[in-house]
Amino acid sequence: MATNAILAKEEEMKRTPQPTAALKASEVAVRIKDQTNARRWQAVLARDRALDGTFVFGVSSTGIFCRPSCPSKRPRPENVSFFDHALQAEQAGYRACLRCRPKALDGNPQSALVRAMCRYIEQHIEDRLTLSLLAKEFRRSSFHLQRTFKSVLGVSPKAYIDAVRLRQVKQNLQAGHSVTTALYAAGYGSSSRLYERTATQLGMTPEKYRRGAVAAVVRYTIASSPLGRMLIAATDKGICAIQFADRFADNDQQLLQGLIREFPFAVRRRDDAAMSEWRENLARLIQGQETNPSLPLDIRATAFQRRVWEALQRIPRGETRSYSAVAKKIGMPKATRAVARACATNPVAVAIPCHRVVRQDGELGGYRWGIERKEQLLAMEKQM
Ligand SMILES: [Zn+2]
Repeated sequence: MATNAILAKEEEMKRTPQPTAALKASEVAVRIKDQTNARRWQAVLARDRALDGTFVFGVSSTGIFCRPSCPSKRPRPENVSFFDHALQAEQAGYRACLRCRPKALDGNPQSALVRAMCRYIEQHIEDRLTLSLLAKEFRRSSFHLQRTFKSVLGVSPKAYIDAVRLRQVKQNLQAGHSVTTALYAAGYGSSSRLYERTATQLGMTPEKYRRGAVAAVVRYTIASSPLGRMLIAATDKGICAIQFADRFADNDQQLLQGLIREFPFAVRRRDDAAMSEWRENLARLIQGQETNPSLPLDIRATAFQRRVWEALQRIPRGETRSYSAVAKKIGMPKATRAVARACATNPVAVAIPCHRVVRQDGELGGYRWGIERKEQLLAMEKQM
């Protein structure tokens, strides 16, 4: 049965008759119950699987209770009582049927729905998940979803989303991802705001947390560049961060702090010698002496970030694109803001040229490493 049909049926069962002045409240209640029970009896006769999980029926002659779709012989109507939950039937002295197992979670549409919701949440954890979005996706009312979810799992969908996000962040950090990427990939909206909450959410200090994790080793070097002091960090697989100091200041301490903030759980080792080749390659790239130097990257990204970043790498040197043009290029014309966010979370400045994306009106837009630096970088690229 289609979801809509189930929904319509549930709505129909919930619909209450308009009480008239002639009827007392108790009489109305009896009438509603009679109507509900009449529909439930029809569902039992039809062995309607769609209503499994919405009620059970007890049979007084056997002392057994079943779900509507139970394949056993239909009882006489006068022996049947209806219950909203298996628990109610048990409290009334009935035992669960061994054939249809009305208490088993498998095959119960409520738990199937909740399982589907959990899967959906896990697969879309990068997105802005809300109850109303889930309601639209599962074609149920927010209220129904909330109640069903809570009754099956004991927590609200919101709490479940939070738990999945936190788990994702922990996994990402343990795998050596930067904080920005770990939070982004877990669907947190504002990384800077969330960063402050991370330690408390993890329930322990970063240092303590790290002891339980296999800490990744990040080597780094700090060097001068045409754009001011620059930090390059790498795992054994490739470059994982390229950052600049604020306002062209020769502020190495600030660069180191930035690295610690991005990789709080990594073992950081300064290694100027080992990084020298990449450092020179990057300097040549900035100065336009080489357009395609060897710069292996080891960056973690969501599928969306990866698409945006790949599109950025195809923008030729000396040219710019608008955020909306990039959104169109990756086939998601409405995702302009998400593109801007993916640009803002680019972990490797220059190597992924997020500075080549500007606003539609020709204004430069934002840049993680300062608008002056973006301006200078674009000016240098146009000259050559
Ligand atoms: Zn049964």
